[in-house]
Amino acid sequence: MTRSDLPKVLVSACLLGQPVRYDGRASGHPDLLQQWQAEGRVLPLCPEVAGGLPTPRPPAEIPGGQGAQVLDGGVQVLTVAGEDVTAQFLAGAQQALALVRQHGIRVAVLKAGSPSCGNHLTYDGTFSGVKVPGAGVTTALLRREGVQVFSELELEQARQALARLPASP
Ligand code: SF4
Repeated sequence: MTRSDLPKVLVSACLLGQPVRYDGRASGHPDLLQQWQAEGRVLPLCPEVAGGLPTPRPPAEIPGGQGAQVLDGGVQVLTVAGEDVTAQFLAGAQQALALVRQHGIRVAVLKAGSPSCGNHLTYDGTFSGVKVPGAGVTTALLRREGVQVFSELELEQARQALARLPASP
């Protein structure tokens, strides 16, 4: 298998050392993700920045914490000041979907807990630090596409999922 044949993986840009978080910081740069970058298999994306939001930016949460409900139009994503940023979150999720389709991506590693990228838990919309079971907007959309979404807390599972994939056509 040549490097160009290696299955690609979509990764939250903040997990690659890029300071794109709402608070202007990064979220670390795990060794395995650095290795995948060196192998040329990583496609970085920050859905919120891709969707047009600045950095830094006010924190935003999904009331109820369900990104799928945002996709279906039933819930807005709101900043702590009450600004509706749903359109930007949806635009970023669509950019992630476009990358996935363009590159045949079946595995993603996205930042845990984020209203865009979270895969198991998200904040509940009260800005009080309470998390509920749920997925962020981008994760929910990618799952509808059949992408396996892991977090930085599940890198071994992501590695195994990637290893099970066939080479890119
Ligand atoms: S968690 Fe996702 S949306 Fe938030 S900074 Fe990281 S890549 Fe961007």
